[in-house]
Amino acid sequence: MISAIHLVPLSLASGEGLPPLSVLDRLSAAVARSFAVSCRVETQPMNIDYAFDGYRMQAWSTPILAQLQQRKPPANTVVLGVTALDLYVPVLTFVFGEAQLAGPAAIVSTHRLRDEYYGLPPREEAVSQRLFKELLHEVGHTQGLRHCTDWRCVMSSAHSVERIDIRQAAYCQPCADAFSRG
Ligand SMILES: [Zn+2]
Ligand SMILES: [Zn+2]
Repeated sequence: MISAIHLVPLSLASGEGLPPLSVLDRLSAAVARSFAVSCRVETQPMNIDYAFDGYRMQAWSTPILAQLQQRKPPANTVVLGVTALDLYVPVLTFVFGEAQLAGPAAIVSTHRLRDEYYGLPPREEAVSQRLFKELLHEVGHTQGLRHCTDWRCVMSSAHSVERIDIRQAAYCQPCADAFSRG
């Protein structure tokens, strides 16, 4: 059971990758509306220079999870890093996010959630909805949930924004049951 979610902005020392405060505030409000948990936005961004690959122009998400975990979040607290940098794991060209399975740390990126990335006009509302779905997905992993075969479920795997858009911002019933047991 989760009692709190801490949102940690992640950026390079140059400030690059820092998500706008408005994005974090909207995400925090969406969490407060849908979970009965406290959601705090950390004021101090966490530096992730060490995880950034200047050749790929992406940050490797897995070491960032370890660094978030080192903050030793209190029991039943999920610490979720949010960045505007593009993320990857070595076997994949990119990831929207990553989480520790049944662990306290997760990370999400807004980079490929923005319509501008695909050459389209920006839509703030779409970014907020997608980011919240990605938060639900990664937080689900921290509660021990694996990928779901129901494509409407937020725990189904998605490798494109189109797939994120057709998912509901909710867990299917079996996932919701497993979540509350987690
Ligand atoms: Zn997943
Ligand atoms: Zn499901």
